[in-house]
Amino acid sequence: MKDQPKRSPELAEIDPERRRLLLGASALPLAAGAGLSLAPARAKAALKTSARIVIAGSGLAGVAAANRLARELDGARITIVDRKEIHNYQPGYTLVATGVWPVEKVSDRNVDLIPPGVEWVREMVAEFDAEKNAVVTDGGRRIEYDYLVVATGLHMDFGLIEGMDVAAIGRNGLTSVYPSPQAAQATWQAMDTFRQKGGKALMTLPSTPLKCAGAPLKMTFMLVDRLRQAGTRDQSQVSFHSALDNIFSVPRINQEVLERWKKLDVPVHFLSKLVAVDIGARRATFASPEGERTQHDYDFIHVVPPMRAPDSVKNSPLSWKEGPFTAGGWLEVDKETLRHRRFPNVFGIGDINGTGKGKTAATVKKSTPLVVQNLIDVIAGREPSQRFDGYTSCPLLVREGAALLIEFDYENRLVPSLPAIDPLQDSYFAWVMKIRLLKPAYMAVAKGRV
Ligand SMILES: Cc1cc2nc3c(=O)[nH]c(=O)nc-3n(C[C@H](O)[C@H](O)[C@H](O)COP(=O)(O)OP(=O)(O)OC[C@H]3O[C@@H](n4cnc5c(N)ncnc54)[C@H](O)[C@@H]3O)c2cc1C
Repeated sequence: MKDQPKRSPELAEIDPERRRLLLGASALPLAAGAGLSLAPARAKAALKTSARIVIAGSGLAGVAAANRLARELDGARITIVDRKEIHNYQPGYTLVATGVWPVEKVSDRNVDLIPPGVEWVREMVAEFDAEKNAVVTDGGRRIEYDYLVVATGLHMDFGLIEGMDVAAIGRNGLTSVYPSPQAAQATWQAMDTFRQKGGKALMTLPSTPLKCAGAPLKMTFMLVDRLRQAGTRDQSQVSFHSALDNIFSVPRINQEVLERWKKLDVPVHFLSKLVAVDIGARRATFASPEGERTQHDYDFIHVVPPMRAPDSVKNSPLSWKEGPFTAGGWLEVDKETLRHRRFPNVFGIGDINGTGKGKTAATVKKSTPLVVQNLIDVIAGREPSQRFDGYTSCPLLVREGAALLIEFDYENRLVPSLPAIDPLQDSYFAWVMKIRLLKPAYMAVAKGRV
């Protein structure tokens, strides 16, 4: 392959013995590369307890915690609260939105993931009454607990973009991979239509923390590739507007992607925030931090919404009250133990956590066993024994048949779990892993098996 980037210097520091062992790895443990190894969890003796545990949210973090707690505790009363019946495999959305997967592959039933013996309350938590150790549902039910796990995920604030209408995604060149499987499917239909003739495409990035911050970058790489395949790249301009002064928080990845986009002729406008979209006129408005507005016409736009905590958490005693996570209302947890900093019987897992990194399924995979063990420690009267390093990962699709397997921690260090795969080099294995291995690995995490 031409123009292959050189092997990253970070990898040169990896112990040669570890590299040799990993070079012999088979396809199955490849999923470990995205923090989604399929190795089964070791059986432990269950701790006897009559503790009442409430889990708010039945996404990946909620069901993974429920399955582990149900197995590792004997006698606990576990209740999971969430109205959602369909469990969506969100990491598959980028595959649906770029024409790689059919939409049917990303939806499963929550009833198949919630373990027997765990009570499922099909309502939403409307209020966290943390001082009184209770949650109140939107149906008016008050559920008291001894321990609480907050796993509500996050809220996508499309409403902050004037004129934006999620129901209109797929028409008039309006797209977004984020909100749902249906939006991802409609995004692919719009991308497929756009690539027939080409034209002007605008890709966007907000300033808030994001779930899978690699997704806006994947969408850009894959759009360029789909245009190239259709023979319309030369008739097209693809540009990227970031509300920040970067496009990715990890400096080494940021630099790598910017270099690649330079070669692919994707100009980047920094500090340019999408604030309004006129869907009928196909015109987007961007604002600088000083409030200066510019308008751009488009044929295709990819909208990435600002993200924050759901209102129930944001407006509760559990959210950060000072510091950088306050505006988004994120859950105030200690970044290492993932235990609440003011309510010691509360823990957080997944996208809701107000920590510097970690809004990916791979983060949930790595952190759930640690949180569950820390919770068990607390139930047993001990201090939490486990520490989370901020592990975050996402296979960054760069074209059909190639991805970068990027993994990093709180300190922005690249932490490849399979050093045989250079995170800065196009990898066919990373692509195969993304399209074949990660969904089964995700389901194993959801069932608490790994
Ligand atoms: C487009 C896209 C691409 C992605 N790509 C990747 C990838 O390549 N790799 C990767 O590792 N990760 C990826 N992710 C991220 C990953 O899917 C999420 O980080 C993960 O699903 C988070 O799990 P969670 O349980 O915290 O939140 P979710 O899975 O979102 O679940 C939250 C649950 O909480 C419920 N809830 C909300 N409010 C309340 C309330 N008040 N009361 C009760 N329940 C409530 C919701 O109904 C929902 O069921 C991607 C995500 C998207 C959207």
